Amino acid sequence: MATPVNIVEGSYVWVEDPEVTWIDGQVEEIKGDEAEVRISDEKKVVANLSKIYPKDVDSPADGVDDMTKLSYLHEPGVLQNLATRYQLNKIYTYTGSILIAINPFQRLPDLYDPQMMEKYKEAPLGELSPHVFAIADAAYRAMINEGKSNSILVSGESGAGKTETTKMLMQYLAYLGGRKEVEGRSVEQQVLESNPVLEAFGNAKTVRNNNSSRFGKFVEIQFDKLGRISGAAIRTYLLERSRVCQISDPERNYHCFYLLCAAPQKEIEKYKLGHPKTFHYLNQSNCYELDDVSDAHDYLATRKAMDIVGISQNEQEAIFRTVAAILHLGNVKFSKAEDNDSSVLENDESNFHLQTAAELLMCDPNALEAALLNRVMVTPEEVIKRSLDPNGAAVSRDGLAKTIYSRLFEWLVNKINSSIGQDPNSKCLIGVLDIYGFESFESNSFEQFCINFTNEKLQQHFNQHVFKMEQEEYKKEEIDWNYIEFIDNQDVLDLIEKKPGGIIALLDEACMFPKSTHETFSEKLYQTFKSHKRFIKPKLSRTEFTIAHYAGEVQYQSDLFLDKNKDYVVAEHQDLLTASKCPFVATLFPPVPEETTKSSNKSKFSSIGSRFKLQLQQLMDTLNSTEPHYIRCVKPNNLFKSSIFDNANVMQQLRCGGVLEAIRISCSGYPTHKTFEEFLHRFGFLAPEVLGENNDEKVACQKILEKMGIAGAQIGQTKVFLRAGQMAELDARRVQE
Ligand code: ATP
Ligand code: MG
Repeated sequence: MATPVNIVEGSYVWVEDPEVTWIDGQVEEIKGDEAEVRISDEKKVVANLSKIYPKDVDSPADGVDDMTKLSYLHEPGVLQNLATRYQLNKIYTYTGSILIAINPFQRLPDLYDPQMMEKYKEAPLGELSPHVFAIADAAYRAMINEGKSNSILVSGESGAGKTETTKMLMQYLAYLGGRKEVEGRSVEQQVLESNPVLEAFGNAKTVRNNNSSRFGKFVEIQFDKLGRISGAAIRTYLLERSRVCQISDPERNYHCFYLLCAAPQKEIEKYKLGHPKTFHYLNQSNCYELDDVSDAHDYLATRKAMDIVGISQNEQEAIFRTVAAILHLGNVKFSKAEDNDSSVLENDESNFHLQTAAELLMCDPNALEAALLNRVMVTPEEVIKRSLDPNGAAVSRDGLAKTIYSRLFEWLVNKINSSIGQDPNSKCLIGVLDIYGFESFESNSFEQFCINFTNEKLQQHFNQHVFKMEQEEYKKEEIDWNYIEFIDNQDVLDLIEKKPGGIIALLDEACMFPKSTHETFSEKLYQTFKSHKRFIKPKLSRTEFTIAHYAGEVQYQSDLFLDKNKDYVVAEHQDLLTASKCPFVATLFPPVPEETTKSSNKSKFSSIGSRFKLQLQQLMDTLNSTEPHYIRCVKPNNLFKSSIFDNANVMQQLRCGGVLEAIRISCSGYPTHKTFEEFLHRFGFLAPEVLGENNDEKVACQKILEKMGIAGAQIGQTKVFLRAGQMAELDARRVQE
């Protein structure tokens, strides 16, 4: 990062430490490239000068509220500042206009009460302590004053606090743009209540977060000429479908299943429900309850929120009936038929669940059974009916459950959108993005691939913005600057999305070719990207591939890429549900137009990857037409505990969230910006004669720089701009004085 030069004997410095990442001490002796640093009375370490960073001994004890005020903008300085503030419950810190939010893992009610909202209203950014409200206020004011759309991008890893932050942003925007005089279901109330509804159906407990959003979300809040909320649109991305049928301990399925099992007795009887542990889709994990959460209470709360967003009682009944049907469907088991490879329902219990599922979905139970046990293959020559073995039937059952659930979720989003309504006359909007952060697990599949692709896109957008902001600051201060280059991630994006020839395009090709397997797909990738800098073939593997993402290398298992990329509904399932007597279920499965059914399998395939790429491009187009604001959420530890600050973990997140990249970009220009006053206060004594001459501040700063032989620094209108390393050089002179 910054060029660490100008360290002398006596300098206070940071040295790398395997345990706490960075540790501070004082340089005792320098021999060649090596420095001996005294950490404490007992401990000394020797480190190469290039691995040592200067420490600012003058920094305030409670840290600075904006990283750009740090004298040294480098990793240890940033980390120390965040840690210091976090211990004082100051969870928000700016890096220029980016807000870093560290999850407090405890309720801080005073921080978000109505008085706070009042306080932040119309206060210039930076005047009050850093806060989400300040960012929302800045976005709102920029929109009103400049008549331009704004967006707020919230990112961070799972459990970092994105959704909580998003809700606070929306609450504040509703506070600014609400119409208090409207009784009952106002637009802003509907916007806010869409959150619990979507959370009930799209969130689940995972190992990383008890309320993890399993989908990405962009909420576009529209405003009228007077700055009042006049409409809203919600777009969602990639709901995790596999969770409906498959969970592992100690995670849970989507909240709605448990809410329904805790519903009032009347509903339980109507839907023939019981304890969650009686359902296969829920009992694959031993976790049924969440700490401090009452599913019974949340069931009623969700129903209330559904009322507010305009989902009728009848629709609500149909929604939960469908959710119950999915649970019963999951309990239908299959065994091998006696005389051949086909399968039959395992026992009476399976039959009961099948009958119940059919009853709840209002479809013909025999047709349901047939649809689960058989598969019709249409080839250009003939139509073949094939029986499935028990395993195949279970896959078919799970496929049906996933399709019903994901269509139900889509329906909810569409319903909320149509009931809130769009304002066709709105010229300005504020978009709020709550989307999954970079993921790198032990095993990474197609989902991680799509998520990391999203993050590459957002990273590019972010870098360009940070760059522009730096440039604007230089322009405002009227300093000369040459345009610095920065490493772009366009090459990774090309690797993934280029058409033709990118990974997504090759995956689609493989999906369309009936004989492809994940091995042939992988082989194709190895050949095509043999010499691509961002693509690595792991040794000894024939099906895995590694992408060197901006945030680090991720190794993907290609096994399920082909399956997961294919989005088609089995014709038998489609026909079965299109014919449902329940209007709600039937609308989830509108009849497929003739041409599609008649044509060959090849064109029936619809690619999830390509569709996602398109959705992402539309999102980027929207974002590009807005003025962005960034909030980076950080998880201070993996224990869900307040007051523990895990340095290495935070560092990794700052890296993935591009915060370090932003810092690197500003380091390649003029990382230190000091007002004339600050500069003179700190370095004035190096040239007392200059201070004595009664110069104006600007001239005094200029003279000090000249006397110290600092070349390349710039004097702006109100600030001195120093190049990387120059601050250390000046500080070293202070030590020597
Ligand atoms: P995911 O990607 O899994 O959806 P997320 O980033 O959306 O994760 P949240 O659900 O917003 O994470 O936050 C996780 C938990 O952290 C919350 O349930 C809450 O307990 C706590 N939390 C986050 N932000 C705050 C906050 N500002 N104040 C108090 N608690 C918070
Ligand atoms: Mg979330």
